[in-house]
Amino acid sequence: MSKLYGALAVLKDLNLQVTHGEKIALIGPSGSGKTTILRILMTLEAIQNGTVWVDGEPLWHMSGKSGLVPASERHLHHMRRRIGMVFQHFNLFPHMSALENVAQPPRIVLGLSREEAEERAQGLLRLVGLADKGANYPSQLSGGQKQRVAIARALAMKPEILLFDEPTSALDPELVEEVLAVLREIAHGSAMTCLLVTHEMSFAREISDRILFLDGGRIVEEGKPDEIFSEPREERTRLFLKKII
Ligand code: ADP
Repeated sequence: MSKLYGALAVLKDLNLQVTHGEKIALIGPSGSGKTTILRILMTLEAIQNGTVWVDGEPLWHMSGKSGLVPASERHLHHMRRRIGMVFQHFNLFPHMSALENVAQPPRIVLGLSREEAEERAQGLLRLVGLADKGANYPSQLSGGQKQRVAIARALAMKPEILLFDEPTSALDPELVEEVLAVLREIAHGSAMTCLLVTHEMSFAREISDRILFLDGGRIVEEGKPDEIFSEPREERTRLFLKKII
């Protein structure tokens, strides 16, 4: 699969297969295409050639005139339900309380009643350690708390696949650990497939089944965390890790 922004090739012949339940960390220099992979999976970005399949179902299909286009709206709607994403900048609705932020997607998209959705939301706020913050608006929460609400909101859809785009990089250093603690619990305690873009190398090493090192729109190297961090085969991986760790 390849992805261009205008003339700029940001993903070049990417070939990636992910197994159910696998926890994958994407690492690499800024601009290497990590976020773009997640955005394509969320169908927030189109691709120029190749295919993207989720569980044997295409996210994109060929249309004679326009080349590759997203699958039909109905199909996309179905697929988007199965994939959740947590963004670097939280993307909470500012005019809704924490509880409403978490309850809204299952109510609107899954058709849960307000009561059912709020019950689910309250349980998830408890899970992320924010049981007493449901009435707070995003402006009344710290960055770490906002990100935990955003994680609860993604979980509210009970996704099969969860994508994390640098979930701690917008946080003050002292707030990073509270978010990592929640992510750790999700990584260890759930059967969800997780793709995590991160610069937190020790965390990536701790929770991943597999690490992908990207540079210049290609997967330069992939392997088990110990292989990548202790015995990288590629010079580019070695240089990157030396700089960042
Ligand atoms: P990473 O997540 O590894 O930092 P990205 O996937 O965000 O990298 O970006 C890959 C490349 O695509 C970068 O060169 C970036 O500047 C470019 N890019 C990302 N989004 C856009 C866009 N909307 N329009 C044009 N270029 C973009």
